[in-house]
Amino acid sequence: MGLPLQGFYDVDFNKIIKGLPEKFIDNLNQLGGVSEFIKCEMHNPFAIINPETVKLVCQEMLLENNVDVLLHTIAADVQKTDDRITGVFIENKSGRQLVEGKVFIDCSGDGDIACRSGVPFVMGRESDHNTQASTLMFRLDNVNIQKLTEMVLENPNEYDLPEILPRIQFTYNKLHILVGLKNRIRKAQEDGINNIPWDRVCYITCLDNNAVYINMVHVDGKDATTGDGLTEIEMKSRSQISLIHKVLKTYIPGFEHSIFTQSAAWTGIRETRHILGDYILSIEDIEEGKIQATSIVVGGYPIDIHYASQKEQYEKLDFKKIKAYGIPYGCFLPRNIKNLLVAGRCISGTHQAMASARVMGTCMGMGQAVGVAAALAIAKNCEPRELEVELIRQGIRELGGYI
Ligand SMILES: Cc1cc2nc3c(=O)[nH]c(=O)nc-3n(C[C@H](O)[C@H](O)[C@H](O)COP(=O)(O)OP(=O)(O)OC[C@H]3O[C@@H](n4cnc5c(N)ncnc54)[C@H](O)[C@@H]3O)c2cc1C
Repeated sequence: MGLPLQGFYDVDFNKIIKGLPEKFIDNLNQLGGVSEFIKCEMHNPFAIINPETVKLVCQEMLLENNVDVLLHTIAADVQKTDDRITGVFIENKSGRQLVEGKVFIDCSGDGDIACRSGVPFVMGRESDHNTQASTLMFRLDNVNIQKLTEMVLENPNEYDLPEILPRIQFTYNKLHILVGLKNRIRKAQEDGINNIPWDRVCYITCLDNNAVYINMVHVDGKDATTGDGLTEIEMKSRSQISLIHKVLKTYIPGFEHSIFTQSAAWTGIRETRHILGDYILSIEDIEEGKIQATSIVVGGYPIDIHYASQKEQYEKLDFKKIKAYGIPYGCFLPRNIKNLLVAGRCISGTHQAMASARVMGTCMGMGQAVGVAAALAIAKNCEPRELEVELIRQGIRELGGYI
């Protein structure tokens, strides 16, 4: 809900995600549903979207391309013969059905299909399997953003987050992401308000005036790949909203008269399973800015960790800018299964590496790349793993993709 599109540009403001994701943005633009890419010293350039326009444009693009769509449907299990998937069991109001296919792509975020097929995975962080905190986004209307930005510009020390220069962030951009004002949260804590879920204020402006999306709910320690875990996350998230709203109203200039108008359809999950593939994207790959000849997507968004434990988030460095890096094809090829590909935040990468590669622009680039690979494997009647990577790279370039 209202999350800005990130990952399309690297730290030097070069565009690294192109092709179909660009077409998606062009279509949004035609309906006035997206801003220009806004330069940001912290997050690299990002674009602000109208979530309702996004829903429509996604649907139109699927229809234009003759995709068979099934909404309200969950992929529940797989049918396998040896190390090949022969079908996926889906469930919806019609009951249980089997969808057969030659090549399958798991874009479930959690790697559900890979997991059901017996692909090994690591849950969250390698050392203790904790996952990044989850967040239910919510919207506040009637916010006086000008009052807040003027306060910050007049008192830069108030901004209190060293990674970002408030003057650059606000002077030129009415649309912005604000991450900071830690001292205001500290003040609320000193006044006895306990259990504030995050140590900073974080909001994203809307395309409409005077409304913001709040990214401050934090729920940790629950397994979002289970029914029980997800339910608990969702309910805990919802109960944090009123406290956060109260803190904003009391301690942040401009929020005094804000009104809570909407929460997202469900809590956003930052991290669950990292499937194990032929290659594991590592923090070293990312920090060195390695672009290997087998790369099929280029990432460049900073390493951005919302720690699972509140204590850690107060003590550790959780944000680091990096250069552009390549994501090798092997990260999309799950071990043990021949005809399965994965794309999105569950690809084969470590906790720290995926803290960069998890953003939407990068995930869209992955979808495009893996779609090309699946189509090529079917056309050539071979396994995805047997494809020459250069052929996939060529196919991505033919779609206008950047590699
Ligand atoms: C709170 C929060 C804030 C974020 N902020 C930003 C931001 O500002 N900018 C940015 O670019 N990124 C942001 N991200 C990261 C980004 O949104 C996600 O990491 C990214 O969308 C992941 O893409 P994905 O395709 O892997 O998964 P998703 O986008 O989650 O898509 C997975 C889809 O699969 C469906 N699904 C799941 N399981 C099944 C199943 N078994 N069968 C059928 N369907 C299934 C889900 O319903 C969903 O539609 C944020 C994430 C969170 C949680």
